[in-house]
Amino acid sequence: MTCTHWKAVEFFKDQAEYEKFMGWLLLRIQSREAKPVSAKEFKKDNDADSEKWFRCAQCHTVWRLLRYQPGLTAGSFRPLPSEIEAH
Ligand SMILES: [Zn+2]
Repeated sequence: MTCTHWKAVEFFKDQAEYEKFMGWLLLRIQSREAKPVSAKEFKKDNDADSEKWFRCAQCHTVWRLLRYQPGLTAGSFRPLPSEIEAH
């Protein structure tokens, strides 16, 4: 099942767009529509700051956030394929 509640971001155009997105995400977390998924729960060894996961409370899809890092990576926010979803 693919989440229809959130919109994927293929890349962040600039710092402003990334910060706007983070504001949106924080509101989702505060309203409990989004739940941070820990690296441990996700069966990942490292808890790198450049990569975070969030679960949609409505459909339980896990989304992967790659941080926008100027000059390094444009970042992204995409749902994970269901077969590698955290449980
Ligand atoms: Zn959803």
